[in-house]
Amino acid sequence: MEYAALAARFGTPLYVYDLDRVDAARRDLIEALPPGTELYYAVKANPHPELVRALRTGAGQPCRVEISSTGELDVIRQAGYSGADVLYTGPGKTDAEISAALAAGVRTFSVESPGDLTAVGARAAALGITAHCLLRVNSASASASTSIRMTGTPSQFGFDSETLPEVLPGLRDVPGAELAGLHFYPLSNARDEDSLIAEFRHTIGLAADLSARLDLPLRLLDIGGGFAAPYAVPGHRPRYEKLRTELEHTLDRDLPGWRDGAPRIAFESGRHLVGDAGTLLTRVVNVKVSRGRKYVIADAGINTLGGMSGLGRLLPVAVEAEADGERERASLVGPLCTPGDILGRDIQLPTLDRDDLVTIPNVGAYGPTASLLMFLGRPAPTEVVVRGDEVLSVSRLVHTREQSDPA
Ligand SMILES: *Cc1c(COP(=O)(O)O)cnc(C)c1O
Repeated sequence: MEYAALAARFGTPLYVYDLDRVDAARRDLIEALPPGTELYYAVKANPHPELVRALRTGAGQPCRVEISSTGELDVIRQAGYSGADVLYTGPGKTDAEISAALAAGVRTFSVESPGDLTAVGARAAALGITAHCLLRVNSASASASTSIRMTGTPSQFGFDSETLPEVLPGLRDVPGAELAGLHFYPLSNARDEDSLIAEFRHTIGLAADLSARLDLPLRLLDIGGGFAAPYAVPGHRPRYEKLRTELEHTLDRDLPGWRDGAPRIAFESGRHLVGDAGTLLTRVVNVKVSRGRKYVIADAGINTLGGMSGLGRLLPVAVEAEADGERERASLVGPLCTPGDILGRDIQLPTLDRDDLVTIPNVGAYGPTASLLMFLGRPAPTEVVVRGDEVLSVSRLVHTREQSDPA
């Protein structure tokens, strides 16, 4: 796909998502996992309906979906998923969203605390149905290292594994809620295949131990993810060559019924499935020098590529440009009136001028969805979905203010 032509046709800032790459990522990841296991797409990575749909349709095993809000529920229904395809997660599920999920046919919930389990059970019981609840476990220990660790420390996520035995009796007979298994999500973006394997081994061992020791029903075991992807820098998503064999070996040893679906084994992935499918095109609006330092001001800032800016992380952005030749040190910044609007501080950039097109690769995950879209009132970026050279859809998110009657 010719980026310059797309930018000329649809303007910038412009996200381009290629569904061929989404297909390839799904195929590669499913091949890297033991056959018969399930893969949940974490919709928060990119809730664009065409991408979410592409992960269900097409050749090969469809993904299921992991969601955590009524907005994501709307998206997956638009994309043709049924309630049976859903795992509903999150530490702060409101009564209204639990009811909406149940009404849409969702029956499987990951619950993160006694209060969360009670709330899910109460809404289900009120409808005369049963919610299947996975207890999310926050393991006291871990094995791999990662950039985003979500376990082993105090957290709003999950039940602490060391105190689960004490609280478990109170979780067994909650009306409307049936314990159906366990959910772990110990890490994101694993450093390498060995740390991913080590973490999965640890999780499988802990799950087998907890379910045997505490007599916990284990129909579904979701062992999370950690599948990596480059973010806003050039590079390729990793291929996992050993993972499948190592997982089969560990599962055969610790949970020998898994090949017959007892338990069913599930994985989750966001970034690895969609990260390399997305490219951001942004145009240089201005170039200036301040006290000897060069600033390249683009039309995309943290309102377009936020990099989870709320988390205070600086993007390690690296760019490709039309005039790729000499490189120089400069900061790539956005157009917003805040010194925090920096895509890359003092990075190596091509020599850029006003109107030059800049390409930021590997932003199919955590692009618009993780950006400060409304900050300073600029329009959201246009998002184009392509398959190879064919443009399938062009859209842009718009925010509207809904008035309520104050009386
Ligand atoms: C965010 C999240 C994911 C996806 O993480 P990636 O690093 O994008 O794969 C999966 N599961 C849960 C529970 C999450 O919170």
